[in-house]
Amino acid sequence: MSTRESSPGRRIFTNRNLRMESIEAIGFDMDHTLAVYNTKNFNHLCFDLALERLISDHGYDPVIRTVRWDPDAVIRGLIVDKQEGNLLKLDAYNHVTRARRGFRFLEKDELRQVYSRGDLRLGSDRFRIFDTLFDMPEGCIFSGLMELKENGEACQDRTPDEIYTQIRKTVDGMHADGTLKARIIADLGRFFIPDPDLVPILRKFREAGKKLFLLTNSEADYTAAVMNFLVGGQDGSWEDLFDLIICFSRKPGFFLPGKAAEPLEVDSLPLLLNRNGQTFIGGDCFFLEKQLGVGGDEILYFGDHTYGDILRSKKSVGWRTAMIVPEVEQEVQNLRPLRDQWRELAQVEDELDSLVARRDQLESAENANPEELAATLEAIGEALGSRARLQKNLKEAYNPYWDSLFREGRASSRFGRQTTEFACIYTSRVSNFLNYPADKFFGRHLEVLPHERWALSE
Ligand code: IMP
Ligand code: MG
Repeated sequence: MSTRESSPGRRIFTNRNLRMESIEAIGFDMDHTLAVYNTKNFNHLCFDLALERLISDHGYDPVIRTVRWDPDAVIRGLIVDKQEGNLLKLDAYNHVTRARRGFRFLEKDELRQVYSRGDLRLGSDRFRIFDTLFDMPEGCIFSGLMELKENGEACQDRTPDEIYTQIRKTVDGMHADGTLKARIIADLGRFFIPDPDLVPILRKFREAGKKLFLLTNSEADYTAAVMNFLVGGQDGSWEDLFDLIICFSRKPGFFLPGKAAEPLEVDSLPLLLNRNGQTFIGGDCFFLEKQLGVGGDEILYFGDHTYGDILRSKKSVGWRTAMIVPEVEQEVQNLRPLRDQWRELAQVEDELDSLVARRDQLESAENANPEELAATLEAIGEALGSRARLQKNLKEAYNPYWDSLFREGRASSRFGRQTTEFACIYTSRVSNFLNYPADKFFGRHLEVLPHERWALSE
């Protein structure tokens, strides 16, 4: 049995029913979706180059070289608060539940004071959301520089806003001016993890009669170099797997009327021959749907970017969505051995709810039995102790600073909510589909609402 077949982390998880039979066309984002980066190598490179550029182009003190790359410093879904200099984790209701300034987490009181209002204007200039794995290096640099600033070792004359804006400009520039891509192309084996199941899954979808398209924000020459490396075919034959290829698509604008560029047919490049006239630069979703002769919910799109790929394609044009979340694989693997403790935690939470309800009843009753109240208080203390112990054990499954990507305490994190709300299905890689029939019906589990849960409990 291959790793793919045996690994629980390679399953496909369903938020919303999806009948593959009804899907006419399947589209793929490239970076972090079809193309699996060696995130460790790539993010470290980006981190190192950006630090050097901050010194050479923005006059930072060379002492910033003491900042160390920490792959755990940031998880997706975190938000930069440029005004306060914090990285934030939000719950499903956009409440700030954790804030880290430099390497220090704000205490509860401080947190409440700074973020007392529930309605953060996340769309304003003050905030930036980390929606992709590409954002991890800048989060790590920001924390590192804020730590130096807090300790008085560097960045004294810069505001947190200036620091983050300069980091963002630096990283953005390295993507746009080809610095990062030149390094990647020179050593593709170091920066990508080829997936032997990639071509088979694309073929399987084609054999099932689906039209396939590639829709990426990457430039045509970079797309060609990466696809050639991962899918193969020096003669440009990787292109034959797709009915339509759109590079430099400028998502999320691609999904919004009036925001897109005129589509240009690609001239032949060394690794992209455009023999069939199906390769374009730019355009918009209306052009794409016209080219393919299908639209709306007949299209399933695979992407990794919460906003640019998933939320926009679903909200603006009603495509069905498959979100690629590579982190799921590790999280599922870590959680599996802890499932007994997880169940125990759920029981303790339920027990606590009933005990607290009983305590409130006893405290408000006029002739309550003091012995029963004392026993209830003691039981609450014990349950709190068990909960803390179980929570500590379960922490091992997650990020050491931020805990779960998908969860915050009892509820979903903002990232978790967005994934469940906007992705019809999610999985760690595209090729996980090889484990499922091409016409599979992905059915969601029964959702139990709080009043049903109560009404149906013993
Ligand atoms: P996609 O995921 O295939 O749509 O492509 C993502 C593209 O966006 C890649 O070419 C990345 O290099 C590029 N990219 C990622 N982050 C940035 C950024 O901050 N500025 C400019 N380009 C970026
Ligand atoms: Mg992507």
